[in-house]
Amino acid sequence: MKILVLNCGSSSLKYQLVDMETEAALARGLVERIGIENSRLVHETDAGKVEMNEDIPNHQVAVQLAIDALISPEYGVISDVKEISAAGHRVVHGGENFSEAVIIDGEVKKAIAECSTLAPLHNPANLVGIEACERILDVKQVAVFDTAFHQTMPDKAFMYALPYGLYEKYKIRRYGFHGTSHKYVAARAAALLGRPLDELKLISCHLGNGASVCAIDKGLSVDTSMGLTPLEGLIMGTRAGDMDPAAVTFIMEKERLSPGGMEGLLNKTSGVLGISGLSSDFRDLEAARNEGNEMADLAIKMYCYRVAKYIGAYAAAMNGVDGIIFTAGVGENGSMVRREICEYLGFLGVSLDEEKNAKRGVEIDASAEGARVRALVIPTNEELTIARETLALVK
Ligand code: ADP
Repeated sequence: MKILVLNCGSSSLKYQLVDMETEAALARGLVERIGIENSRLVHETDAGKVEMNEDIPNHQVAVQLAIDALISPEYGVISDVKEISAAGHRVVHGGENFSEAVIIDGEVKKAIAECSTLAPLHNPANLVGIEACERILDVKQVAVFDTAFHQTMPDKAFMYALPYGLYEKYKIRRYGFHGTSHKYVAARAAALLGRPLDELKLISCHLGNGASVCAIDKGLSVDTSMGLTPLEGLIMGTRAGDMDPAAVTFIMEKERLSPGGMEGLLNKTSGVLGISGLSSDFRDLEAARNEGNEMADLAIKMYCYRVAKYIGAYAAAMNGVDGIIFTAGVGENGSMVRREICEYLGFLGVSLDEEKNAKRGVEIDASAEGARVRALVIPTNEELTIARETLALVK
């Protein structure tokens, strides 16, 4: 059985065709700049990479091009579109409606649309992708929500200390994101440690362009650093994360910013980019730091300090921790960032093996011999999780 996994952004589409017998990705691709000039599709298989520069005016055309690439006699991996048995979609916000993946029908689409007020950039794009797919493929479709895994958080963790009526009226609360990734790496951590997940207290650090920490007790999310939106918590590539909310109104007043302008500042020009004035990419920041750039150095220090503070907080929230997981672009590859974070955590019983920690992008227990709390590097695989959850529902 082959499952098509789709992740639609406002102007992009990522796809993967997963063979469920082997759980291998047969092909993967990215359509960029949908609806903008110079749009293109990059399609990758074991045989290599092809790039197509085409006019891609909307998501429907993008989905069609992705499918054409998958069945192409030249660089395709299947001979007929009928070989695709189901489609799984990443949907960013499921609000309080979805605590697990669901088969998409009219009601589900309506609920996803209703959650658009909470994720105005993401949910409408996810829906467009779902509807484009419906017109092209005659298969069952499944929605897998970034927020679903965190629906097990207790109210003491998900409520904000605002007037309670705002929760009742607008559902203002912490939802959390990257749930698919936190769930996947927690299961892998249990396998790597050779212990049942329901005996473990884990802290998962998903450090990519967006970044969040999750406290996972017995396999369930009990707290996470992202909130109502993916802006809260850690310092990210371009997002500010935690700060005094009074600074927001102060800056708006002084800089004469509209709500949209302020949102842009907090989401797009803050984070390590805003501090360093250089880049949101840790490869650039590390290189600049090594050349003596003080602002790059400050940005990295602030970033690692914030992650360490959350790990300390979540160890307290769970009254202990067995393992700390590093995943996503920075977590999987950034040996220096991992070392700098773990330097704060000696008191917990974390100790890194320098040689193991120097490895990049592979699943490894990077702890020193005898460390009480294990430091694990686990490459995430959100697409495989989406494919598995899709299979479980359509089977
Ligand atoms: P996204 O959130 O977009 O899925 P990723 O998980 O792919 O992001 O993470 C992207 C980030 O990973 C890059 O911006 C970069 O900072 C970081 N990264 C990638 N490779 C390395 C590396 N070798 N060393 C340090 N950081 C890296």
